[in-house]
Amino acid sequence: MGVELAIRLYQRRFAQPLHTAHGPWVWREGLLLRLRDSLGRVGYGEVAPIPWFSSESVAEALAFCHAQGGEWRCGEIPNSLPATQFGLESAQADLAGQIAGQESAIPTDSLANAAICGLLPAGETALEIAPQRLAQGHRTLKWKIGVGSIADEIRWLDQLVGNLPSDARLRLDANGGLSLAQAEQWLTACDRINANPQLATVEHLEQPLPPDQLAAMTALGERYHTAIALDESVATLAQLEHCWQQGWRGVFVVKPAIAGSPQQLEAFCQQHQPHLVFSSAFETIVGRQAALAIAARCSPSLAPALGFGTQGWFADDWDTLTPAELWDRL
Ligand SMILES: [Mg+2]
Repeated sequence: MGVELAIRLYQRRFAQPLHTAHGPWVWREGLLLRLRDSLGRVGYGEVAPIPWFSSESVAEALAFCHAQGGEWRCGEIPNSLPATQFGLESAQADLAGQIAGQESAIPTDSLANAAICGLLPAGETALEIAPQRLAQGHRTLKWKIGVGSIADEIRWLDQLVGNLPSDARLRLDANGGLSLAQAEQWLTACDRINANPQLATVEHLEQPLPPDQLAAMTALGERYHTAIALDESVATLAQLEHCWQQGWRGVFVVKPAIAGSPQQLEAFCQQHQPHLVFSSAFETIVGRQAALAIAARCSPSLAPALGFGTQGWFADDWDTLTPAELWDRL
């Protein structure tokens, strides 16, 4: 016998459209799932796909969930639906009492920001915003690069690093947009900064080259001291396993909400102990709690900082609601 499965579709608007390689991202769409057993206990889950990150579409997720006929029997979910695997498995975990409170190792006040990577806007504006992020308690900051001219951006990097305290850490995210020659220029600049102990540290350069250039990124990792992180290359657990098999031993950015089965992700982490940085996929409180619970289980020290500096990015008050309140709102 299964448990009752209810589905609600949501749409929320970004306060400012997010710039992506696929154009502006205006609306975040997804599904909230609610499982209810015969005792009336409920568990919430979220399907928050990012189709340009190898996820299924919301329509595909919805079709699979509807096909269950209002009942969830813990059947198999195809690997082609990684965000649905996350949503249904985490709803089951929540129903079993394994989600709520599990992320509480991660405090939510401003002290917590020390454990969370703060986001900086692309371009020169980062110089203005960085002091605000530090004042909010963040110690690790992330800056998108490859947006303007490389000469300008490396000059701003030097200014940014010069303004940060020496214990601050900076992640640079190229979203796969650099050429090999540009990646070499960036890594040279990062190594120069990291050789000076009086300056803030560049923690890693994220996805310098497109996902199909894994061998080139592995070679860069061997030539430079600054770590390289894969993000777009490892959207799903299957891709993560592939890159691991190909010998990648640098950092992996993992977005649990789109990676696939949380159980399999945890098993992979326990088996191989990879260098992971957990990150948000702009999910609601429901997916966020489940993703943070996975992060806390896979990386109990909560180091390195979590890429969950995504609250306050939407033009609504959902970040202030509990999962049950959000469900009732939809
Ligand atoms: Mg990234």
